[in-house]
Amino acid sequence: MRKSCSEAARRSRFAPVGAILLLVSCGPLSLSEESQLGHSFQQEMRKELPILHDRVVTDYVRGMGRGILKAAGPQPFDYTFQVVVDENVNAFAGPAGHIYIHTETILKARNASELAGVIAHEIGHVVERHVAENYNRQRNTQIGQQVLVAGAAIAGGGGMANLANFGSGLAAVAYLNTFGREAEMEADAFAVEMLSKAGWDPAGLVTFFQLLQEDSGDGGPSFLSSHPTTSERIRATSEALEVVDRPPGLRTDDGGRLQIIQRRILLLTRQSTRY
Ligand SMILES: [Zn+2]
Repeated sequence: MRKSCSEAARRSRFAPVGAILLLVSCGPLSLSEESQLGHSFQQEMRKELPILHDRVVTDYVRGMGRGILKAAGPQPFDYTFQVVVDENVNAFAGPAGHIYIHTETILKARNASELAGVIAHEIGHVVERHVAENYNRQRNTQIGQQVLVAGAAIAGGGGMANLANFGSGLAAVAYLNTFGREAEMEADAFAVEMLSKAGWDPAGLVTFFQLLQEDSGDGGPSFLSSHPTTSERIRATSEALEVVDRPPGLRTDDGGRLQIIQRRILLLTRQSTRY
């Protein structure tokens, strides 16, 4: 028998004390709910993730993000951009525009437009409200109730004790950051359009996909997800490139700034012997 949203939430053995706005109502996540959730999420991620606390690197990523947001027009959220020390190529978006880029993603990019492509894609998930929809969809399914309560526990600072089923809060975050085929395609289409408007060559998104595919085929990092496959995304994004308005002078590089940032990351993370 299908339980009501609130009943399932109430009965969940994972429900932490005082959790939380997601359990209060079962309608679509409003902008203000998403903002609150995002704020708590960010605080918890600060505790859980090895954030790179380096102004130069963070400002660089933030600058790229802000440029893309400017092209996208006024936004309801105050976006933040953080760099996470992690050897896996990945990036993810939390609620209300809290975006995280792994150091390996920055190191992997062969030019600035490739990194801008990843950032634009993550922004796309927030702008298109995929993150909100995902939280929303999860709370309407039975398994989702548990995941969502775990997610809410993370967001509400409920602590790891509530997250035993997930191994870590990050596992729940990863679950909540798994988007469907359509959402991935939409985020890619958003990225192609906004990169071009922001002055970046949108082909960077395609060449980065190709690079990752050379490394790991259609498996690849979780931000690529398995549906659609990387090949499918390369095809769709290449088609989008054909029709998007690409004014002359779009940039691929940024005068060597990316390379300086990459060297700085290697030094800061003690990988300076890597090259
Ligand atoms: Zn995505």
